[in-house]
Amino acid sequence: MDRAPKFPAIQERNVERNQSSSFNPISGQDLYNQVERTRKTTQAELKDRKFFSLFWGIWYMDDLEIVQSTFIKSALCLPRSTPGHFLRVETGSLPVKAKIFRRTVHYWQKILNMERDRWPRLCYEELLKAVDDSPTHSSLNWVRRLRDSLLPIGMGCLLNDPELVQTKDLIKAYENHCTSLDIARVCESGYGFYFRNLADFTERQWYLGSKKNLQIERIIAQMRTTSKNEIRFYAKGSAHKISCETVCNVCNTSEVEDHFHFMLRCPLYNYYRNFYLSRYINVGEAPEISCCSLLDIGRDSEKLIAVYHYISQALRLRAFSLEE
Ligand SMILES: [Zn+2]
Repeated sequence: MDRAPKFPAIQERNVERNQSSSFNPISGQDLYNQVERTRKTTQAELKDRKFFSLFWGIWYMDDLEIVQSTFIKSALCLPRSTPGHFLRVETGSLPVKAKIFRRTVHYWQKILNMERDRWPRLCYEELLKAVDDSPTHSSLNWVRRLRDSLLPIGMGCLLNDPELVQTKDLIKAYENHCTSLDIARVCESGYGFYFRNLADFTERQWYLGSKKNLQIERIIAQMRTTSKNEIRFYAKGSAHKISCETVCNVCNTSEVEDHFHFMLRCPLYNYYRNFYLSRYINVGEAPEISCCSLLDIGRDSEKLIAVYHYISQALRLRAFSLEE
């Protein structure tokens, strides 16, 4: 898609500032309040930038999405490769483009309510006449961009029948469209193989914020949103990487050290497994079902703490065993 070349200085500066503002991994203990402050600052910055989005944001919806994704990855110490739709489904967030669209539609409504001799209305009418020009000539056409956003929700015709515009319904339709896209991407994703079975697709996961403990949230989020090829943990200043395609080096079973081996089978962690997880595992159940059942925390506070302690202790023992 052609990007608007007339606003690069402002746009690139703002996107770069947003990208760099929250990219450093956050580590240490009791950072929850600090991360909350950063989240509010990021939201405020996005809100501030969205003032400009009335004019140029609609060209850069995907670029601005990086700001939100980067913050979530940084706060939860997730790998950079974690897909944005995983992050939004897990945290119950709408994409930034939905917020930009909302601002844009409000501004469109404002223009339509203006007297016909007002400059913004005159400009709008001229842009509307040129909306079907070739893309080369209309890449900077704000009305064309608006139409491009309306088409996926089947509302492109509203440009010619502006009196039919129902702002609230239009915004809701676009938000539903964004949510549906994220759900479809999660269900079809080849990145992880069990996240689709864990997400409830309705709201932010309860474990995020329930304990106000960032270490717990990080460990659980890292395990839930993991890739199918490797599991990466980063917590309390330590990094752990488990390749799911190689044999486990800390036991003598010669099994591949995949998600199921780590959570359910590796004999090295039997003590912790029996202590923390035994009541949540049904004997004879398929490992896929048991693993999903363990990570489907719901609103169970005791289960959250148990799964967190199991993973933390197992990782510590694994690191100690590998060093020997
Ligand atoms: Zn093992």
